[in-house]
Amino acid sequence: MKNIYLDNAATTAVRPEVISAMLQVLQEDYGNPSSTHSFGRTTKNLIELSRKSIAKNLNCLAQEIVFTSCGTEANNFILRSCVRDLHVERIITSKIEHHAVLHTVEVLQREYSFSVDYVSILPDGTIDYSHLETLLEENKKTLVSLMHVNNETGTILDLEKVAKLCKNHNAYFHTDMVQSIGKVKIDLETIPIDFLVASAHKFHGPKGIGFAFIRKTIALQPLLLGGEQEKGLRAGTESVHNIVGMTTAFTMALEQLETEKNYVLELKNYLVQQIEKYFPDSLFVGNPKDTFYTLLNVILPFDVSKTSMLLFQLDMHGVAVSRGSACQSGSVKPSHVLEAFITEPYLKQPNLRISLSHYNTKEDIDYLLTTLQKI
Ligand code: PLP
Repeated sequence: MKNIYLDNAATTAVRPEVISAMLQVLQEDYGNPSSTHSFGRTTKNLIELSRKSIAKNLNCLAQEIVFTSCGTEANNFILRSCVRDLHVERIITSKIEHHAVLHTVEVLQREYSFSVDYVSILPDGTIDYSHLETLLEENKKTLVSLMHVNNETGTILDLEKVAKLCKNHNAYFHTDMVQSIGKVKIDLETIPIDFLVASAHKFHGPKGIGFAFIRKTIALQPLLLGGEQEKGLRAGTESVHNIVGMTTAFTMALEQLETEKNYVLELKNYLVQQIEKYFPDSLFVGNPKDTFYTLLNVILPFDVSKTSMLLFQLDMHGVAVSRGSACQSGSVKPSHVLEAFITEPYLKQPNLRISLSHYNTKEDIDYLLTTLQKI
């Protein structure tokens, strides 16, 4: 049986070069970076070189990069400190954010006194910028938390536009870039983003490592307390092999960005064509021309009765994809993202999130389409 991986928004295969770089650290460079002897100094140096390399690729300062265990932790750290230490009076976010943001905001709301406004979502799954602007006109100390690329639909936020809007209204701007970092060029000197979050396993790096960018003019306080690692902003012995792995993955992703992007985009266009050919009554979530090049979300013209079994059946044929719905004990709960802007009856129909990487081929897509026709 074939094994076809089309779930790159969930996680990605680690590049062989990343594995080699990590193995070198695991085998040779095992000193604790906080130790003052040569073993410690070696690993400390690896961490600081990694920080500089990431910062150079983002055009920011090395001191503005804080290593975390994942994207979720970085989101938690930033949101909590903005509420607790910067005393924001309001968070503007949206109903289509990842749960790492939405659930954190909900819990913080129970612990602290601040208000939450949700920006409207347009029928194509994008943010209503004029609503955001209206919300920003209210004069309150505000944090705007909006993701760059949505992990279920691939809709894209205009980072430059939102960052400038926030700056003009004296609001902080936090963006979860977990789905897009390493897949776009970003210049933090020209785009006034205050906080950015990344996770290595989405760009062919290891799991269990991410980073936060925190603009140097803003003083956040740590989520984890303990040692003085990360200049006191994130206690805990650094995961040196993961940091080196993430940095290798990030450097390679940016070096090969244009080639890999063109290749993946061609695959996506082929996927759209094939779906239109074999399932002409499908409905794409967002215009595929406008959504991110790695992602396609489609509602298939299948009977509702097929919804709960679709992923399972694809899996039985060796195809790994996702759906914007969580299936719990046989009943299908629509995803919170689709629920924010898709209406009945489409919400109940089977939908697939197909996410691509440069490791995929046209044959993978042909196999998916052949399998879907059998189901
Ligand atoms: N934010 C987005 C948009 C994601 O897609 C994910 C992962 O699915 C996360 C945050 C969480 O990242 P991590 O798995 O590194 O905690």
